[in-house]
Amino acid sequence: MRLDGTRALVTGGSRGIGRAIVLDLVRRGARAAFGYATREDAARETVRLAGADGPALVALRADLTAPGAPERLVREAEAALGGIDLLVNNAGIIDDATAPAMTEEQWRRVLDLDLTAAFLLSKAVARRMIRRRAGCIVHIGSVIGSRGGRGQANYAAAKGGLEALTRALAIDLAPRNIRVNCVAPGLIETDLSRDAIARAGGRAPAAILLGRPGRPEEVAAVVSFLASDLASYITGQVFHVDGGLGLAT
Ligand code: NDP
Repeated sequence: MRLDGTRALVTGGSRGIGRAIVLDLVRRGARAAFGYATREDAARETVRLAGADGPALVALRADLTAPGAPERLVREAEAALGGIDLLVNNAGIIDDATAPAMTEEQWRRVLDLDLTAAFLLSKAVARRMIRRRAGCIVHIGSVIGSRGGRGQANYAAAKGGLEALTRALAIDLAPRNIRVNCVAPGLIETDLSRDAIARAGGRAPAAILLGRPGRPEEVAAVVSFLASDLASYITGQVFHVDGGLGLAT
């Protein structure tokens, strides 16, 4: 599963799943630019772990909820890489509260990053991919997008929206040979899930058939597969990477 020649833009590459995606892509021969919001130290660590920088890997700082930031990030990545063949919309946050207590600000904060930024980035890269009649977009959704989650009205709506966006973009872009898919992880060990895992006493919830949380690398492998020629006939699909979450309950 080599990705030599692929030029990838990955959002949220400084930590967690995004970092694992960047490392996997680079290991397979891709060149990458990745975005991060504030954590310069973490971004530098991703570059160090990849053992590549300069032409092979660049870190670009951008708060993707700021006006114009998604388009700017695409321009900067394109300037650094000479083009973008693969976009991975990974950056995401949670901000939980039960629906009656959720503020409009909490709702907008999560929707702005987890859904709207993904659309704006997709739109910006698609315009360029259309000219080349080739490209691939992978969204990182969540099982919460199809199952819902307690105190997660904002997150569930954003991730459910991302699944719908996957199908809509796949329909619009297939005639131009651009594939669009979504990877929906279950519980994966990262900063984002640390509280949920701690609340469960460090144990995996019983509903996970494989009996453990997932590792970021296990999500990254599926992203690389979808980005590769092995997935040349797959578009508009959502892939759950969740250890069989909920199947036995
Ligand atoms: P982390 O919290 O570990 O990392 C989040 C990343 O997003 C960081 O790189 C962060 O940058 C970046 N980011 C945060 N806010 C912004 C912003 N405003 N603009 C640009 N970038 C931003 O998250 P995970 O790795 O756990 O999650 C990655 C994706 O996977 C998310 O979409 C999440 O919803 C999804 N997911 C995660 C699951 C899990 O169990 N972990 C389960 C299901 C889905 P910085 O380092 O600078 O803060």
